[in-house]
Amino acid sequence: MLAEIRSLNEECGVFGIWGHENASQITYYGLHALQHRGQEGAGIVTTDGETLKPVKGEGLVNEVFTPEKLAKMAGTGAIGHVRYATAGGSGIENVQPLLFNSTTGSLAISHNGNLVNANHLKDHLERQGSIFQTTSDTEVLAHLIKRSGYENFEEKIKNALSLLKGAFACAILTEKAMYIALDPNGLRPLSIGKLGDAWLVASETCAFDIVGAEFVRAVEPGEFIIVDKEGMRVERFAYPNERSICTMEYVYFSRPDSDIDGINVHTARKRLGKQLAKEVQIDADVVTGVPDSSISAAIGYSEESGIPYELGLIKNRYVGRTFIQPSQDLREQGVKMKLSPVRQVVDGKRVIMVDDSIVRGTTSRRIVKLLKEAGATEVHVVISSPPIKNPCFYGIDTSTSGELIAANNTVEEMREQIGADSLTFLSVDGMVQNIGRTDPGSKCGHCLACFTGEYPTDIYPDTVLPHQKEFS
Ligand code: SF4
Repeated sequence: MLAEIRSLNEECGVFGIWGHENASQITYYGLHALQHRGQEGAGIVTTDGETLKPVKGEGLVNEVFTPEKLAKMAGTGAIGHVRYATAGGSGIENVQPLLFNSTTGSLAISHNGNLVNANHLKDHLERQGSIFQTTSDTEVLAHLIKRSGYENFEEKIKNALSLLKGAFACAILTEKAMYIALDPNGLRPLSIGKLGDAWLVASETCAFDIVGAEFVRAVEPGEFIIVDKEGMRVERFAYPNERSICTMEYVYFSRPDSDIDGINVHTARKRLGKQLAKEVQIDADVVTGVPDSSISAAIGYSEESGIPYELGLIKNRYVGRTFIQPSQDLREQGVKMKLSPVRQVVDGKRVIMVDDSIVRGTTSRRIVKLLKEAGATEVHVVISSPPIKNPCFYGIDTSTSGELIAANNTVEEMREQIGADSLTFLSVDGMVQNIGRTDPGSKCGHCLACFTGEYPTDIYPDTVLPHQKEFS
């Protein structure tokens, strides 16, 4: 679906490279491949072995970086970040990598995910004298590292990481090394790659493909990986907990050409579409998917049901990201600018519209309306995930429970509100089984909290939702 017109947003993408003379350029291309994970800000920090050099700004990757800026970023190590700015957390000071200079050595951090105990830790740190410069929970990690009582720098980082709760997939850069860490539940994807002798890290494997690197392996939950002139060493900062990767990475966020733990995202989405067609049989003339993330599931639905797949909706790729739509009227107009129905495909047809999720329901209502205005005689909405009934505390901006349509309405009430002729969601079991993870010793390998309300970590009383991420 279109990130611009919905309230379900990923927070970040992380990339890093160590041991390549074109580190900044490769990071730039890696961030390009991760652009779908955040469009509000981008940054790169490089090291030449002596100093860390940052370039960052608000906007898209190609708006923030120019060839001239990249050419000045010499060095063989770099980390980068793309960011989705949450309300209360926007502003250049929050664009990552966050860079911290001190006489004992500098460090830069790129972080994907949301800490559930950030406020708790921040209160504690402030009582010890820390002064925070940003509203990002990532800054907590830097303060914990600097304040750790350990002598050895690597032990300081490990000690700091062990105090964090929630979701964190991190790349940390110092003058002399790059460090990689993933939270003990493995809530976010993070992979290691190789390009010649250089080591890479990325939120998604599509970032390796774009720079010609090979995928080596996924980072394991609780791992702490050190990359420096000696090569790569793998240690741990925590024992792994039950694996709980974010299910929405498969359903919606990740690029279809990425693999998460060996499972291709497009292929998994197709299986979800096939399973939907097994769970609900609908008499219709044509199947269409909401671009881009629902196309794979729509193809799967079509294959299983035998109803032809057609491009019933087209995404206008050149609508400005910053288009401001203050009124309801203008918002309606905005959707028409971003999505267009193909009249010749849907006119006079009974249409099955496959989408990946429903958050508030406003987008679904607009799309159903678009299809009906274009002549569809019936619009059946089928969703390739279960109803989202609970907020996400791990870095996905799913709004509060009050705004989630499925938290407050039955499926029939939702159908009525979006104006569809029928509305069907995929079952939790159907989703999990068809993504197809096999995690020994784990119930299913997934976080399902937004569907089931069972959170894989403790939730603290002062845990903030991503869009409320403003320290008080
Ligand atoms: S609550 Fe939902 S969106 Fe958040 S990490 Fe879990 S599965 Fe992903």
